[in-house]
Amino acid sequence: MKNITRILMKKRITTMIDRNVLKNKFTGEILFDEKMSNHTSYGVGGRVNAYIRPKNKPELIQIIKLIHKSKSKVYYLGSGSNFLVHDKNINCYVISPTKAIKSLKIQDNVIQADAGVMLGKLVKESMRNELTGLESLAGVPGTLGGALKMNAGAWGSEISNFLVSVDVIDSKGNLKTLNHDNLKFQYRSSSFSSNDFIISARFKLEKSSEKNIKHKKKIASDGRIKTQPLKYRSAGSVFKNPNSMLAAGFLIDKSGLKGTVCGDAEISTHHANFFINHGNAKAKDIAHLIKLSRMSIFERFGIMLDLEIKTIGFKNKELFPYD
Ligand SMILES: Cc1cc2nc3c(=O)[nH]c(=O)nc-3n(C[C@H](O)[C@H](O)[C@H](O)COP(=O)(O)OP(=O)(O)OC[C@H]3O[C@@H](n4cnc5c(N)ncnc54)[C@H](O)[C@@H]3O)c2cc1C
Repeated sequence: MKNITRILMKKRITTMIDRNVLKNKFTGEILFDEKMSNHTSYGVGGRVNAYIRPKNKPELIQIIKLIHKSKSKVYYLGSGSNFLVHDKNINCYVISPTKAIKSLKIQDNVIQADAGVMLGKLVKESMRNELTGLESLAGVPGTLGGALKMNAGAWGSEISNFLVSVDVIDSKGNLKTLNHDNLKFQYRSSSFSSNDFIISARFKLEKSSEKNIKHKKKIASDGRIKTQPLKYRSAGSVFKNPNSMLAAGFLIDKSGLKGTVCGDAEISTHHANFFINHGNAKAKDIAHLIKLSRMSIFERFGIMLDLEIKTIGFKNKELFPYD
């Protein structure tokens, strides 16, 4: 019994960092035992050891080094608009650049922006400088870091189309610059290592007339308002489309699942690939709808849908019907 206790204690010591070390060494925002429901667009998620927003880039590098050295579990978060976090407490740290790592500079047709810059600001500033390329992303919530990791896109355009290079910090705290050619981007995915924290990026856009850019932005914004349930909390599309000719939302709709409710979560009647939180949904309610959709679509069409959203804290069997 003593041995077991010793093993458990050892495990705990290697996976948690002394709070005083974090408090004394760093001056950014560190929220201990923080509820992730405060930091996800779904508004769900249990407590993590600490939610950390570093004060600047040197502090970010030190925190990443410390956490990796301690072998603690860490997740990188932008604004949490593509995350489903479990309701339980999770033994992990979460780092986000949204407090202070958000400088944005434009020179001629090149944009240099930090990971914590919100996409809305990136789109607005590029438009103000009569640069075209990013306006289709108007209305996509999230940060630049999250958008690059997800290769966010809308209306046939993806953020990687205009990328020149990205700076990342690896788990040892080394800063590396990756050129576009060193990276692979596909539909809602990228080849960044899960240990790499995206810190900043450069984009090269083209000059265009204000009228032309505004027109393209209007098409994107109008389309979004018409097709998405924007009044409610969600994380956007839950599943990836199986291919460019077959939408996950179409399959969910054809399986008769639009409007299906679990607790306070619902498969939107407006857009079947958006699962919405009416206010008091739990992550387990959303997970139940994910499992149900996967099962119904597999039984009807023989297709197992892949998640577009990222998850924290779930076991496979909580999200897959046949696990
Ligand atoms: C209403 C609504 C509409 C949406 N519409 C679209 C759409 O049209 N197109 C689209 O593509 N998406 C859409 N989304 C999904 C979401 O907005 C995008 O995926 C967005 O790019 C996520 O950005 P984020 O900062 O919130 O990332 P998060 O959700 O915080 O994280 C997403 C992923 O990026 C990683 N990550 C975040 N920051 C970093 C970093 N600095 N370094 C390394 N990894 C990082 C995370 O670990 C995670 O794997 C929508 C979401 C909502 C709520």
